[in-house]
Amino acid sequence: MVDVQDLARYPFLEEAQDYVRNESGTLDLILRSELGKSLLEHASRRVQDTLAQKNPVECGIYGRDAKEDIYTYVLARMLVSCINDRVLIDRLSQFEARRAYSWFVREERSRMVGIAEKVGIDLEQPTMPVITYVGLISHLNDERWRLVNRHVENGQVHLQPEEMQELVEERMRAIIRERLPLTVPDDICRIFQPYTHEVSAAIQQRTLEEFGEVDESSFPPCIAALIRAVTAGTNLPHVGRFALTAFLNNIGLSTTQIVEVFQRAPDFDLSMTMYQVEHISGRSGTEYTAPSCATMRTHGLCVRRDETCEKVSHPLSYYKWKKRQNQYSVRKSSR
Ligand code: SF4
Repeated sequence: MVDVQDLARYPFLEEAQDYVRNESGTLDLILRSELGKSLLEHASRRVQDTLAQKNPVECGIYGRDAKEDIYTYVLARMLVSCINDRVLIDRLSQFEARRAYSWFVREERSRMVGIAEKVGIDLEQPTMPVITYVGLISHLNDERWRLVNRHVENGQVHLQPEEMQELVEERMRAIIRERLPLTVPDDICRIFQPYTHEVSAAIQQRTLEEFGEVDESSFPPCIAALIRAVTAGTNLPHVGRFALTAFLNNIGLSTTQIVEVFQRAPDFDLSMTMYQVEHISGRSGTEYTAPSCATMRTHGLCVRRDETCEKVSHPLSYYKWKKRQNQYSVRKSSR
């Protein structure tokens, strides 16, 4: 890893961080200069591209050269930290990991081995210790990664060479994610304000576009069952309340609308419900994402699976898929 081009491709590595520290002078000065404005524009585009889930390979570099590209990586991370939206931070981590991985797979073998080593993966080995493996796959939904589906021997998980490589991308994502959000001073966040507003508006717009008007008939069976349980006065366990609230919040219901759902319960307590809903929906800091199907299964909340469930790994994907199907059927029948 010798030149600035390399550092731009893998900006989360220590060497790139050192480069920025040595080269940048005071960040405050840069941000207040014309160059700073232009870098912020590029950083904002970088964040918007992650929101739009663009293919990083097609996005090109951000800024005029590799050096500016590295700066925009730093600024993009600061920008999302000022906004502190969990979904946005997750998406940026994923986007940056995919971008780095797209370079990684084009490297010569010896360089691949070196880069993988820097993120803690030994590509020369056909196995990985169970403990390392379990930590690595905790965010991967594909069934093939589950430990029960792997060949494990003497505390080692056997992996195909291409699977080892795939885990490098996951490791890159985890490294980028675990360092976010950064602690950004308020006066710096103020400089970012026009861009944070722009990105926040884009988040809002995407939520509306993705989910549109609420359509209860598209709710997955697990969520419909939770709503029925609330309505029937069942005392839901915390994880059930959490899953329901996070789901309703993620599809765009307001706090009041979510509270109205819980209001159907006979033992409804307004202030307690408001507190819980505001906490889970992020009005007080962190916004939570509804649990995946795997997590729902673990907690016994995956009930009455239907054929759509076979196609998805997340209740939100179920909802999006089903809603599209419903809209398509309505359009078809009105022709
Ligand atoms: S498979 Fe997923 S969407 Fe379907 S019921 Fe289970 S948790 Fe819900």
